[in-house]
Amino acid sequence: MSQHYEVLARKYRPHTFKELVGQTHTVRTLVNALDNNSLHHGFLFTGTRGVGKTTIARIFAKSVNCESGVSSNPCGKCETCLEIDKGQSLDLIELDAASHTGVDNMREILENAQYTPTKNLYKIYLIDEVHMLSKSSFNALLKTLEEPPKHIKFLLATTDPKKLPITILSRCLQFNLNKLSHDEIFNHLKYIMGEESLEFEDSALSKIAEFGNGSMRDSLSLLDQSISYGNGSVKESELKAMLGLISQNEIEQLATLVINRNAEEVLSFTRELAHKGENLTNTLKDLTSLFHKIATTQITKDTNQISSEINDLSKIISAQDLQLYYQIAINGQKDMHLSPSEQIGLEMTLLRMIAFHPDHQVIEKKNLKLSENANVNNKLTLKETVQNTSSIKAKVESIKKTENQLEVKTQNDWEKIIKELNFDGAAKMLVKNTVFNSFNNQNLSLTLSDDFVNLLTPNTQSSIKNTLNKIYPGITLFIEPGQTNGSSLSQKESVKKEQKRKQTESQFLNDNGLKELQEVFNSQVDIKSIKESDNV
Ligand SMILES: [Zn+2]
Repeated sequence: MSQHYEVLARKYRPHTFKELVGQTHTVRTLVNALDNNSLHHGFLFTGTRGVGKTTIARIFAKSVNCESGVSSNPCGKCETCLEIDKGQSLDLIELDAASHTGVDNMREILENAQYTPTKNLYKIYLIDEVHMLSKSSFNALLKTLEEPPKHIKFLLATTDPKKLPITILSRCLQFNLNKLSHDEIFNHLKYIMGEESLEFEDSALSKIAEFGNGSMRDSLSLLDQSISYGNGSVKESELKAMLGLISQNEIEQLATLVINRNAEEVLSFTRELAHKGENLTNTLKDLTSLFHKIATTQITKDTNQISSEINDLSKIISAQDLQLYYQIAINGQKDMHLSPSEQIGLEMTLLRMIAFHPDHQVIEKKNLKLSENANVNNKLTLKETVQNTSSIKAKVESIKKTENQLEVKTQNDWEKIIKELNFDGAAKMLVKNTVFNSFNNQNLSLTLSDDFVNLLTPNTQSSIKNTLNKIYPGITLFIEPGQTNGSSLSQKESVKKEQKRKQTESQFLNDNGLKELQEVFNSQVDIKSIKESDNV
């Protein structure tokens, strides 16, 4: 890198509307107005930081004051164009209301608007963060806006248009600038890295675009930082080290634990992250982004842009659950600064996702009801309670003694075990599509239907193993893809469902009342609309 390193945001500031990234609606309207020379005197650009408000205003200034005439395509070479690019034009008066609030020369400057431009066609006032003008400056601005001299253009920019008086709003053409999309930022970063002939990884630029959160300026300054951190190159591992991020892989593992509602492991995983000194606020932020990615994958079904792990997760979690987790994650981020420590904040947020899950609440309510009943019906004496407790203990012991030995000899045995054990999500779907082969010396061998081979990931395998080993410790699992010939639990269940549907359908069609109706109205029943309710 050269010693005279110019920050990228400045070096690559767009000089024409064509070079500008995004904001197509605003640009189209401005270009049309400029080319037809039908120009309003007041423009208000609103939007969050770094989306191009002042950049657009400067290009606009060149467009109206370029020495080759008003057009949407200023020459960029005449004295005026060059002056504007360098911030030296006397007829472009740039004011930042955020840094001028106390000082009242602002009012004076605005009162001077009536004097003609020094050399150009228009005198242009570019006022950034205009909502922060003092009251007297507002009045001066309003006075000029009400009766604008022909040579005046006001370009106002604000991040907070709600704070502007209606009298100002009603006298300006308003343009709402959008946050830039991830792709818009990513492609621009990629273009710049190419122009600079610097080494980079796509995944790193994508991460930067994500962190930029719609702001090109923030993304470019992050890119600057990463280039100097990586000594001229931008790599994902270095970016992560710089930002204190944990790897995507770990975030996916954490999400899987939450989705499987495995509270104990969620806690130990979080502790490990904290122990490694990870930034847990970012962990929660990354988890939130992951939920968003899974949700969009469920809708677009676009598997090119995403990892196979995200694709797997998108298949095992419902859209409703995702919404719930996302909302809890967002609230968790808001509360993070209030929690005693980052670790506590993250742990409580993750546990909330598990506790607020509808299934979990059903279980809790059932337990509650059981214990209520117990209190009402059985007013036990202390002695009886003690006796009961010891008999429960004995039962638990006897269960513990028998629970160590898995006995599977047939497919039927295996199906019973599938139904007994609490397999979660993808693991459940996977085991239901297996058939039993053999069980010798604690080695359980299964065949997985070829159609479901994509479920066979390290995650699902370890989940199945964990669930099995909780009750039957020491089992080793072998799953091979192959033909299951209609004998897996899942295949049997769907055959049963289909039979039930057909039965209902024929009952329905043979119903005399329906037959009469059909004859009277000469109508047909839409057979496909008949569905068997799962509860029947
Ligand atoms: Zn020019």
